[in-house]
Amino acid sequence: MDKKEILSKFSADPERYYMVKLFDDEKFERKSCATCNRFYWTIDGDRINCPDHSDDTYSFIGNPPTKKRFDYTQAWKEVESFFVKNGHTSVNRYPVVCRWRDDLYFTIASIVDFQRVMGSKVVFEFPANPLVVPQTCLRFKDLENVGVTGRHFSSFCMIGQHSIPNSHGYWKDECVDLDYRLLTEQFGVDKKEVVFVEDVWEGGGSFGSSLEFFVNGLELGNAVFTEFQGNLSNYKTLDQQIIDMGAGLERFAWLTMGTPTAYDCCFGPITNNLLQQVGIDANNELLGTYFTKIAKHMEQFGNLSEVRKNAIKSAGLSDEQINKIITPLEGIYLIIDHIRTLIFAISDGALPSNVGGGYNLRMMLRRIISTMDRLSLKFDMDEMIDMQIDYLKNTYPELEKTREDIKTIIRIESGRYENSKLRMEKIVSKLNQKPTVDDLIRLYESDGVTPDYLKEMNVISDIPSTFYSKLSELHQSKKQKEQDQVSLEGLSKTELLYYEDDPKEFDAKVIKSFDKYVVLDKTSFYARGGGQEPDHGTIEKFEVVDVSKHGNVIVHELKNGIPKEGSTVSCVVDSKRRDGITKNHTSTHILNSSTRSVLGSWVWQHSAFKEEDHARLDITHHSALTNDEIIKIEKLANSIVEKNMSVTIDNFDRGTAEQKYGFKIYQGGIVPVKSVRIVSIEDFDIEACGGTHVKKTGEIELIKITRTKRIQDGVVRIEFVSGGTALDYTKQHDANLIKKSAELKEKTELREKRRGQKQELREKFPILVDGITQSKIGTNIVDGIIVDMTDPGKPNFCSTTSDQYDEFFHISLGEKLIEKDPWMVYCGVFEDGDKVRAIIYSGEQAAKDKKAGDIAKTVSEILGGAGGGNQRFAQGGGKDKSKKNDAIEKAKKMVLEV
Ligand SMILES: [Zn+2]
Ligand SMILES: [Zn+2]
Repeated sequence: MDKKEILSKFSADPERYYMVKLFDDEKFERKSCATCNRFYWTIDGDRINCPDHSDDTYSFIGNPPTKKRFDYTQAWKEVESFFVKNGHTSVNRYPVVCRWRDDLYFTIASIVDFQRVMGSKVVFEFPANPLVVPQTCLRFKDLENVGVTGRHFSSFCMIGQHSIPNSHGYWKDECVDLDYRLLTEQFGVDKKEVVFVEDVWEGGGSFGSSLEFFVNGLELGNAVFTEFQGNLSNYKTLDQQIIDMGAGLERFAWLTMGTPTAYDCCFGPITNNLLQQVGIDANNELLGTYFTKIAKHMEQFGNLSEVRKNAIKSAGLSDEQINKIITPLEGIYLIIDHIRTLIFAISDGALPSNVGGGYNLRMMLRRIISTMDRLSLKFDMDEMIDMQIDYLKNTYPELEKTREDIKTIIRIESGRYENSKLRMEKIVSKLNQKPTVDDLIRLYESDGVTPDYLKEMNVISDIPSTFYSKLSELHQSKKQKEQDQVSLEGLSKTELLYYEDDPKEFDAKVIKSFDKYVVLDKTSFYARGGGQEPDHGTIEKFEVVDVSKHGNVIVHELKNGIPKEGSTVSCVVDSKRRDGITKNHTSTHILNSSTRSVLGSWVWQHSAFKEEDHARLDITHHSALTNDEIIKIEKLANSIVEKNMSVTIDNFDRGTAEQKYGFKIYQGGIVPVKSVRIVSIEDFDIEACGGTHVKKTGEIELIKITRTKRIQDGVVRIEFVSGGTALDYTKQHDANLIKKSAELKEKTELREKRRGQKQELREKFPILVDGITQSKIGTNIVDGIIVDMTDPGKPNFCSTTSDQYDEFFHISLGEKLIEKDPWMVYCGVFEDGDKVRAIIYSGEQAAKDKKAGDIAKTVSEILGGAGGGNQRFAQGGGKDKSKKNDAIEKAKKMVLEV
């Protein structure tokens, strides 16, 4: 549906869609803008233009329309007290990481807090009605505007005023009346300054009218009335109508302060502190003029750099003023804004990375660093985080708890960026033309090179305005899940015995059987889900190989046939398998909380898998685990096992569970049903989970981490075993250790022995050599070495196969022998592992006829291998150890026979 069409249809019937009691009571006039024709409501008889086209646009800069001044913190207190005294419940903000929706990474609007998935539909669940919430929202598509326009933020506080029209809540009349009184009574804005502009909203199949409200041209909020479903030619009123009024808290503060930008009043003392560090005077009059021009030009020009150029011209700024004041100021605003966003995101468990929502966070931190480098700003990151939290905790006290964790993550991530700079420099030096937006996205996604870095390196002068919106689009939504393929329409819900008495043997009726599948009226077979593998066992004589859940129906997959429909079957669940899986599942919960407690608050379950004899838990963490960390995690997990804590299971209404335990319960992802099953290991770990669990942690006996691995940026895998498998593993592990240490001991002893032998050899060698070379003619044996001495002037032969001699010995002896007796041929044969080797030396005289290489070749052939060398020295060998003597005999013949 086209929004313009809806607007023209609704504006054609203002009585029905826009008229509220307030307009009647206060005598509002409905007018059409002289410039753009849009319809708006005002009590100012002289007004002729809509707020976007009036002369008073942004006239509050330097001249606020309220008597009182409120900064960010105080502005919220004003808003909150107004709504509370008018019957609203003030609800704490929800996390900025949107754990309760699987189609969003970050909370982008206050209404998202109350949207829950029910099957495939989105429904609204309000913890109170009516309510007001100071919801921090993250939006990354306007990043290039942040710091430059004076009013764009990457995160902002959306004041959410929400109501369901019923006996507690209200509808349009009350909503508009409250918003008007908030401005005029609570903030003291002159009634004449308030303008309501007609607009519409549509999304997710529903739509409705809306009234945007402005003061001095500044849009403060938008009251959306989600009212209809269908299409423009045929629509009906929704069963669940919703008031979705969202207003920017930053703008309320800005309006009352009248500072040049919203940044000057929304970050508390931080902006001033940083400006002082670089010596810029924020009260400079020209800033007011400049930013008013920027604000006005924003509607006029499409392109930000054009807006900036024109504002510079009309404010009459010199180049020096731009370089010394405006540019550093924009950088400082950007830095403060981005750090605030990172604080909220990291505090709520998100990590900068190169996947999903982490992309945007990494980008922001790199922008901060690049901006500081480009402008030679030397701000201390920890100090900025401290200043922000000191200020923000007035409204968001929960940030205090993660203060140090935020610093840790930012420190690690900044270090990573510094380390990658050399690589980035190389990549950038290879760029030979100006990169397009797609090039920029590729450069960031594959190499981590941010456009801010390119700007810092003077490769580009401006960041294309579409870059951030494109990147944000690419990484805004999570992947949609695959849709269910099996059609089981008309079947009634399977009774889940495993959530009741959980019998391992039971009788059930076959409701449907087809192909290899069976549906029963009730089952104790756990269906694959939440990372827990399915039960196995038998249904009648058929083996159950898989069990899956399709809506409310459990389907069993059988092997070798299926029972008849309508028959009653006896079923047996493999309880040994189930036991193993169950222990691993409870262990997963224990390990999850243990890792968070050891590593930091950013640890969140990324995914998990539990089989009978092994399991794994993937967690969000910035680095690979160290040995020390693994030991600590295992120790903590096993201390929970030893304490034999009770594991209890309770069912809650989803909203109640969220309010009671917070969003940490969604470790395993969203719960698409109204009732949430909460598994608590006393106070140690509390999660929403549909799996099977032990009753006492002591049943687990032991948890053993077998391996950990960083599987992707920001995700670490922990493989583990528990129960009997862990005990076996440890036994095996210990046995292996004992075996290994015995082997090591043996090796060491052998080495020692050899060393001793070598020493001994060195001492007795001259004697041995003399003994051999001075042997009498005939066959002699000297220390296990056989010596065949012949007549002078003929070759002598000397050999050994004795096991007491090794390679070192043979080489040393051969060398010495032929040195002393040039007619000597030496042949040493010895075993080396599973091989048998031969070393041959032939003296200078002997070698004329009896070459070492020839002998080695022949000997090796006999030994079943190959060998060779020169006439003086050669070696070889083979595998046949039984042929050692044959080989020596052959060598002897070759040498002694003429
Ligand atoms: Zn207009
Ligand atoms: Zn679980």
